[in-house]
Amino acid sequence: MAFNVTQIREDFPILKREVNGKPLIYLDNAATSQKPKQVIDSITHYYTHYNANIHRGVHTLSQEATDAYEQARKKIQKHFNIAHGHEVIFTSGTTDGINLVANGFSSFLKTGDEVIVSAMEHHSNIVPWQMLCERTGALLKVIPMSEEGTLILGEYDTLLTEKTKLVFVNHISNALGTINPIEEIIEKAHNYGAAVLVDGAQSCSHIKPDLQALDVDFYVTSAHKMCGPTGVGMLYGKAEWLHKLPPYQGGGEMIAEVTFEKTTYADLPHKFEAGTPNIAGGIAFGTAIDYLNEIGFDAIAQHESQLLEYATAELLKIPGLRIYGTGKDKTSVISFNVEGIHPYDVGTILDKLGIAVRTGHHCAQPIMDFYKIPGTVRASFAFYNTMEEVDALVNAVRQAQNMLS
Ligand code: PMP
Repeated sequence: MAFNVTQIREDFPILKREVNGKPLIYLDNAATSQKPKQVIDSITHYYTHYNANIHRGVHTLSQEATDAYEQARKKIQKHFNIAHGHEVIFTSGTTDGINLVANGFSSFLKTGDEVIVSAMEHHSNIVPWQMLCERTGALLKVIPMSEEGTLILGEYDTLLTEKTKLVFVNHISNALGTINPIEEIIEKAHNYGAAVLVDGAQSCSHIKPDLQALDVDFYVTSAHKMCGPTGVGMLYGKAEWLHKLPPYQGGGEMIAEVTFEKTTYADLPHKFEAGTPNIAGGIAFGTAIDYLNEIGFDAIAQHESQLLEYATAELLKIPGLRIYGTGKDKTSVISFNVEGIHPYDVGTILDKLGIAVRTGHHCAQPIMDFYKIPGTVRASFAFYNTMEEVDALVNAVRQAQNMLS
C-alpha cells in the first residue's frame, strides 16, 4: 500500500477536532500517540461483545476473551521477533516493566556490584535502579553524553568491569530524539557477562526491533506510544532470565498451587501476570501492532525523516533558536529553546494557536542539568503529521518570538 498521509489521517478521529478555534496540530507524539479508529473500535468491540475475565472460565465469552488476549501476545511476539510466546509479559507499561526487573534483581545484587545507566534516560529508567542500589548496596555508574546529545561510548568502555551486572539504556531518548547504538552497548556488556535492559518506549513507534538479533536480555515498552491504549505494555525477557527472576506481585493468576503453608508459582508468562489484566488494552495493543505493520515501518521512517529534516531546517532559520540533540542518528523529535524566552511561554502561545507540544524537563532532568536549562519546547512528529503542520509550527514559533521578546 502506497503511503498516503491524507488517507492515514482519516483513521484518526481526534485529528478532526479544533483547539482554541484552530485545527488541532498534534506534535506531542513522544508523550503519547493518537489512536486510529481500528484501535478504538477493538476496545468497544471487546466490551460490547465478549467482555469476560480470561484464563478462568469454561464459558464461551471467557474463551473468546482468552483467545483474543493470547492472540495479541502472539502478535507482539511476532512483531518484535521473540523466540517464545512465554517470553512476552503483559505489563501496565514501560515503567511497570522496568520496576519488575529492578525488583527481581534485588535477589541477585550485593554490595560492590555495579550497574550502568546512560546520561540521557527518562526518570523511569533511573529511579527504579537507584532504589535497587539503595536496597542492595550496588553502585550506579553513568555513561556521559556529548554536547550534541550523543553517548560517549569511549567512556562506556572504561565503566564496564567484571563487577558490572546490568546495563540499562533507552533505544531513543524522549527528550532529544537521539538513537543510541544499542547493538554495540549490548555486545560490550555481554563481553563482561552483564545483562542489558533496553527501554523501547520511544523507539517502538519508529523502529521495528528484532529482539533475537539484538540479543538483548530485557526490552520494555508501552502500547500507548505506538497507537495503542494507555495502561498496557510489554516486557520481553529471555526465558533463562525470567525463570531466574522472582515474581514481582503475588495474587491470582500467577500461582500453580496455594496452601497456607506454601505457594508454588505458575509457569511463564503467568508467573509475572498477577490479577486481572487490562484485557481490552492487551487486545487493542495487538490491533495497534497490526495497524502500524499495515502502513509499514519503512514508510513510517521515510515520512518521519522528511518531517524531521524539513522542520529542523525551517526552525533553525529563526534567529536565537537552539536545537538540543544534533547527532546524526535521531528520530522525529525536536527539542528547542528560543533565546530569552521560557519554554513554557512558547508552549502556551502555541496552544492558543491549536498546536500541542510538550514543554518542561520531559522527565529527563539530568539532560536539562547537563545543558543548564530549565526545560525545552519539544515537538515530536508521527507518521500522520504533515509538512503543512511543520509550516504552522514554524510560523507559530516566530509569532511567539515576536510577542514575547
Ligand atoms: N522511557 C521513555 C524513554 C519514555 O519516553 C517514557 C514515556 N514518556 C517512559 C520510559 C515511561 O513510559 P510509561 O509512562 O508509558 O510507563
